[in-house]
Amino acid sequence: MDENSKSSGIFQIYKTFLYKIISNKRVRLIVLCLLFSAMGMYIGKTIMSILKPTNLYVPKLKVIGDVKQVIAVKDLEYFKGLDKKSIELQNLIHMAKPFSESYDVLLVGGDGLFAKLEGKNADDCLIEFSPDNGWKAVTEKHPVNSGIKNIKEIVIVSKEKSWDYGLNIISPKENILNITPGEFHLKESTLYPYFDGESSKGADKRDYSVKVYKYKRLLPLRDIVKSNGDPILMMGAKGIYELIHNPGYLEAVGNKINYIDRENRRQLQDIKGIMVDFPPHSIMDVYHDSLHYIENNERVLIILLDGFSYRQYRYGLTRGYMPFLEGIAEPKMATSVYKPITNGGFAAIITGQPPRVNGVYDRKHRDLKTESIFGRVEKMGKKSVLVEGDIKILNTEIEPILNIDRNENGTRDDEIFETALEAMSNEPDLQLVHFHSIDDMGHKYGDTAKETMEALKIIDRYIGDLAANWEGKIIITSDHGMHSTSQGGSHGAFRYEDMIVPYFFLEGGEK
Ligand SMILES: [Zn+2]
Ligand SMILES: [Zn+2]
Repeated sequence: MDENSKSSGIFQIYKTFLYKIISNKRVRLIVLCLLFSAMGMYIGKTIMSILKPTNLYVPKLKVIGDVKQVIAVKDLEYFKGLDKKSIELQNLIHMAKPFSESYDVLLVGGDGLFAKLEGKNADDCLIEFSPDNGWKAVTEKHPVNSGIKNIKEIVIVSKEKSWDYGLNIISPKENILNITPGEFHLKESTLYPYFDGESSKGADKRDYSVKVYKYKRLLPLRDIVKSNGDPILMMGAKGIYELIHNPGYLEAVGNKINYIDRENRRQLQDIKGIMVDFPPHSIMDVYHDSLHYIENNERVLIILLDGFSYRQYRYGLTRGYMPFLEGIAEPKMATSVYKPITNGGFAAIITGQPPRVNGVYDRKHRDLKTESIFGRVEKMGKKSVLVEGDIKILNTEIEPILNIDRNENGTRDDEIFETALEAMSNEPDLQLVHFHSIDDMGHKYGDTAKETMEALKIIDRYIGDLAANWEGKIIITSDHGMHSTSQGGSHGAFRYEDMIVPYFFLEGGEK
């Protein structure tokens, strides 16, 4: 048998098989049904593709300003299942999660023209899309001019003042000014051409060269910060910690405020605070001061009072809550780092580096990117010990001695104190003792509450006893401060109460 007759034989079997199937009534019906439904689907799809405006250009509409989340409506997905191509303004704002309950809404058109309406009156406003007018506000209650066309941005501007978000300008003694990203849009700013890049064409790449600029709405820092020519200290998200000598500009982008240095063409994103007249000392000095003495074969005791601000120190001092320290040492003011929280402050203290360098700027960070004082001391062949509460704050080169509230009196500080005294008998070169009760009471009752001050009084006695038993240098400071809230106290904001802590230096062996 040759190849041809072989395949025609197979074809014959196939034909018989097909004929048998088709002659079956039920099978025929099923095949017909399948055929029709496939055709139906094809026709439906074609109609849909004709109706669907696939090539329609939809300009981006953003909800920005004092919101937790920037919303960008960039396609018509939002209208799925809706008859009209419109969204309730209130709905859009709700999605962006405004920082405060009371706010104004700016509807900013593509030409820069904007309408301002009160947030509480935005309930009848619809944001409608049409190919002719782009995004447009449609309202019945509001006057005609709020029907602004080609809306590009919806800016939420908080009406309540708060130091909890936006950019704070402070001094070591007061919170001076808060600017929010939303409010920025109402401030007098200037349009600056900002160099964006260069492209060139031609044989030697210089024949046809085009420089591209982008207009940026910038606010000169000089207009809002009075620094008398002195440098300012700038801090921000992701551990930014910068000394600024020549103040540049601020720019609001989305729900953040960025710093722009036009001369050096550099940007610092999400700036949280600027401190003027900042003190020359920082909690980072602990590392450098300690190292200095240990290298000179002197022993150093670091007493870390969690959540103890310079303001609390002044309050406690004038009311007699610190009988030991009052007679013995006058502290200096020192700056904490942003965010002023325990792991960030603790990391800055033991590494001598700002958060961006040591890698700890968030509550979830536990690992250091740089060597700590403990690692350094160990490398010198010297002994160091860390006496801690019931939780290990950071992973360091040495393991902390943890303490739980064994006698269940509501605080671990009495146990920490006992352990610290015991540890001293081994004569370490470096000992760090971390007390927690001032922070605990501060959170619960407030930074200057009686309970917090009573805790301070007990700590003052512990410090006296530890100092009496320590031969060497003693540094006492805090990781961050504390401010009052309606529920008690808190920290973590760029405000002077959280950012400025006392820095004591004393000699051991004193009673
Ligand atoms: Zn703390
Ligand atoms: Zn705390």
